[in-house]
Amino acid sequence: MENILSSELINRQWILKNRPIGYPKESDFEIKSVEIPEISNDEILIKTLFMSLDPYMRGRLRDAKSYTKPVQIGEVMTGEIVGRVIRSNYNSIKIGDIVTSHLGWQEWGVTKGYSVSKVQNNNAPISTSLGILGMPGLTAYFGLLKIGNPVPGDNLVVSAASGAVGAVVGQIGKMAGCNVIGIAGSDEKIDYIKNDLEFDFGINYKTENIEKKLSEYCPNGINIYFDNVGGPITDAAIDNIALGGRVIVCGQISQYNDVNQAKGPRNLWTLIRTRSKIQGMLVSDWADEKEEALSRLSSWVSTGKLKYKEDIREGLDNAPKTFIDLMNGNNFGKLLVHVSD
Ligand code: NDP
Repeated sequence: MENILSSELINRQWILKNRPIGYPKESDFEIKSVEIPEISNDEILIKTLFMSLDPYMRGRLRDAKSYTKPVQIGEVMTGEIVGRVIRSNYNSIKIGDIVTSHLGWQEWGVTKGYSVSKVQNNNAPISTSLGILGMPGLTAYFGLLKIGNPVPGDNLVVSAASGAVGAVVGQIGKMAGCNVIGIAGSDEKIDYIKNDLEFDFGINYKTENIEKKLSEYCPNGINIYFDNVGGPITDAAIDNIALGGRVIVCGQISQYNDVNQAKGPRNLWTLIRTRSKIQGMLVSDWADEKEEALSRLSSWVSTGKLKYKEDIREGLDNAPKTFIDLMNGNNFGKLLVHVSD
């Protein structure tokens, strides 16, 4: 073992203890200490620096049909991390490389060298590889540009607008010449999207009449609705859809903790009248175009065209509590846990 490991032979990891019913609780997770294994052929040992917390994780806690397998009881909680390579038996990965990997909620991890992505030196902080220059940034980029097909003058509405995905959707929409309306859950978030990110309008869905505000800000209807939340916000957006509108179904966070699956929407007749399209998306479908997209996102970040906000919490111990915050909208920006330096 390298010197760096001599005093740190123990790995701490969060495992799934119970499948949550409704909103997750801290007691649904359990922290365990295990030995760090030796690496075999093609394997590398990674020390976690930052861990990403994302809404999709709620789906992985449910034993239900999905696009991937759920986490099993007793397994390490799933998730993407960015970390430093401490040992390597894989040719193209060197000690000291910074990589992203799906190691889950743990301080250390051993994985195959070919399964990780090297983080390019792009002058942005390492943590951005889990946010604006990672999966959430790519989700916004592909969803809006490939499905939304924005053109100048389009009215673009995005929900969860101050979050990791929504904030990028709105800013790319502005670059594409759209009139951008963001929907979010506090006045502070609305101030941020309007003043810092230069969205044209913001709607606080907790205090304002969404229907009324949408028709006021989009008198000719909504051309693109980027749906991160589902539920009543989506009903209101579909009610205001324009002729030839595009609805991108990216996430449905308002329903992730429902005990009884909600039915609906019931207003799809609007799509007939307006000949609109509604399409679900999964960011991994554009894996082949990831490098090109990252290079564009990265140049927009470095020139200040794309701004981002991170909400970084301290310590692996806080992972379950932080995840519960995410499910309750108590994050402001891309949610990360700082695990080590
Ligand atoms: P965010 O950073 O936006 O955090 C989630 C936000 O959702 C919260 O801050 C909260 O903001 C909002 N929210 C929570 N509960 C509700 C509710 N009941 N009603 C309305 N809004 C709610 O997360 P991400 O940007 O990482 O993800 C946004 C969406 O995109 C999620 O639904 C996620 O599952 C989806 N996604 C989909 C991908 C795909 O490939 N299809 C890939 C990545 C993400 P507020 O205070 O404004 O309510």
